[in-house]
Amino acid sequence: AGSERVFNFAAGPAILPENVLRRAESELYNWRGSGMSVMEMSHRGKEFRSIIEKAESDLRTLLNISSDYAVLFLQGGATTQFAAVPLNLCTPSDAVDFVVTGSWGDKAFKEAVKYCKPNVIWSGKSEKYTKVPSFDGLEQNPDAKYLHICANETIHGVEFKDYPTPRNRAGLLVADMSSNFCSKPVDVTKFGLIYAGAQKNVGPSGVTIVIVRKDLIGNAQEITPVMLDYKIHADNNSLYNTPPCFGIYMCGLVFEDLLAQGGLVEVEKKNIKKGQMLYNAIDESKGFYRCPVEKSVRSLMNVPFTLEKSELEEEFVKEAAKEKMLQLKGHRSVGGIRASIYNAMPLAGVEKLVAFMKDFQARHG
Ligand code: PLP
Repeated sequence: AGSERVFNFAAGPAILPENVLRRAESELYNWRGSGMSVMEMSHRGKEFRSIIEKAESDLRTLLNISSDYAVLFLQGGATTQFAAVPLNLCTPSDAVDFVVTGSWGDKAFKEAVKYCKPNVIWSGKSEKYTKVPSFDGLEQNPDAKYLHICANETIHGVEFKDYPTPRNRAGLLVADMSSNFCSKPVDVTKFGLIYAGAQKNVGPSGVTIVIVRKDLIGNAQEITPVMLDYKIHADNNSLYNTPPCFGIYMCGLVFEDLLAQGGLVEVEKKNIKKGQMLYNAIDESKGFYRCPVEKSVRSLMNVPFTLEKSELEEEFVKEAAKEKMLQLKGHRSVGGIRASIYNAMPLAGVEKLVAFMKDFQARHG
């Protein structure tokens, strides 16, 4: 009984595809005849090189990334990119525009304050981060170096369904895609830079992926630590120092799995189906459950909701856990419930959650 897997609704680190974990297990002690685990390999040996090269090439295929962009496998989480992006793209006096649709965008803004002159041109804070602004009325600073968005706010469950056209002179849009990376096709050419921590949709924690247009590389501020300088990592194919080898290997297995599913068009179809099922259950509960996010921008990855009788939320989480549905508690800053349903969450997990929600309502409604 103890060996049975649960449905893990955590926001990250999060559920990984079972077939990927089994594959990793099968080659854990002896990777493809090398006589070694990936954890034990030199990052400069031919085995690991083949792993990182395949991971990069599969990611390029998945997202249709052209050779105009560098793909970097870094460390430090998306949080490190909050500093690395302005350090690489701005001088200390450069302005940057931020659209803040949740706490992660806010954190990125606050970090950028140290390295450039960012402005929040729109914030959803007064409406408790339930919206994305209309792009028409969005007043951008033409002198801004780039426009920064968080494509999916993990805590508030707000997701951009399309992207604003950057109206700065360089035409640059930068996105934190940590929590919806590889959940749907993305036109990378719309972005100067995309960054994402791996631990939600594509692997374990410890790997941060940066996709950056090559012409933007090479102008880092003088104070930039080598570990944050994109040029150093791009020139060394992410092997300047010891990379997070095992994490990159796991990301590579996930990329292979996503390709085997038919790529991101197919992955998105599954995510839409799961998301609709869960949001319908919330909306059809006659107010017993409520999602505060404006319908058109509800996240397909992180589904936050509250119970009309908020005193029942603790009981909800507890009973769900007994039925092997874990980590449904909302983020400590907002409370309520949050179900993260990343790529690897099977439809069966969402079906089970929805059935539980109906049953819970029948018993407590
Ligand atoms: N950005 C978003 C959208 C996130 O969800 C998170 C983490 O949950 C972060 C940034 C911070 O990522 P990390 O913990 O990898 O630094």
